[in-house]
Amino acid sequence: LNLEILKLGGSVVTNKNQPMSMNTAAINRIASEIATAGGRGLVIVHGGGSYGHPLAKEYEISNGYHSDLQLPGFSKTRQAMIQLNSILVNTLLDAHVPAVSVNHSSFIITNNKKIGEVDFKIVELYIKAGMVPVLYGDAVLDTEIKFTILSGDQLAARLAIDLKAQRLIYGVDVDGVYTANPKLTSNARLIEDLSLSHMKGMVKIGEALSTDVTGGMLGKVQEATSAVEAGVNVLILNALKSDYIYNALRGESVVCTRLRR
Ligand code: ADP
Repeated sequence: LNLEILKLGGSVVTNKNQPMSMNTAAINRIASEIATAGGRGLVIVHGGGSYGHPLAKEYEISNGYHSDLQLPGFSKTRQAMIQLNSILVNTLLDAHVPAVSVNHSSFIITNNKKIGEVDFKIVELYIKAGMVPVLYGDAVLDTEIKFTILSGDQLAARLAIDLKAQRLIYGVDVDGVYTANPKLTSNARLIEDLSLSHMKGMVKIGEALSTDVTGGMLGKVQEATSAVEAGVNVLILNALKSDYIYNALRGESVVCTRLRR
């Protein structure tokens, strides 16, 4: 199976600073880039951005159950993600990408925030049927803390490993991993070749600026580590720049961060 996993960050598909606000221009462009790149098997995973994160944060979903008052918040987070996923899938369909929504949060359970056993057979069969499954970060049940947020970053890495993807591409709103948060530090440098074993102590990756409950760039690199160790090529690139996703999907070189052991 010639397969790629494309994770579209919440910072790409939504306007993070405005609640429930899509980045319509970005998703229209990305949908047409995916359509024209064509070809091989593709799974898309998206983040929550200004749809999922504010609710998840308000009801403190990610650290698990502490009060019944959180219960409607769990469901509201779900509903917001369903809405975002629906807009994204419709946009892909309009661009003639045979996208299909997969509501994995109904069948994935985490163990203390980590995906345990999961069967992605359904996703595999969609790909083999020629469709493009679209999954997303969401509120999920947890065996230890009752519920949590499963990030799109973690889900994408696990899909890449289980489905033996060739590549895992994280599309974000910056060019990749920098020596410091490029939104806060003007002389931050892009690290084009990031060796995970040398990372500790060398880089201060920092936290994302906005309302993310899942750890920003640091969390992304941590979640991607398991995929890198499983031999998947992992790229982190700027999905807000024209043709970066197109070029990456075509296997052409793009400015980005490549992760390696
Ligand atoms: P998404 O939600 O799109 O998946 P995040 O917002 O979680 O992405 O993470 C990307 C953000 O991480 C960037 O917009 C940037 O502000 C922040 N960040 C913090 N430290 C770094 C760093 N060292 N290099 C790049 N980005 C960083």
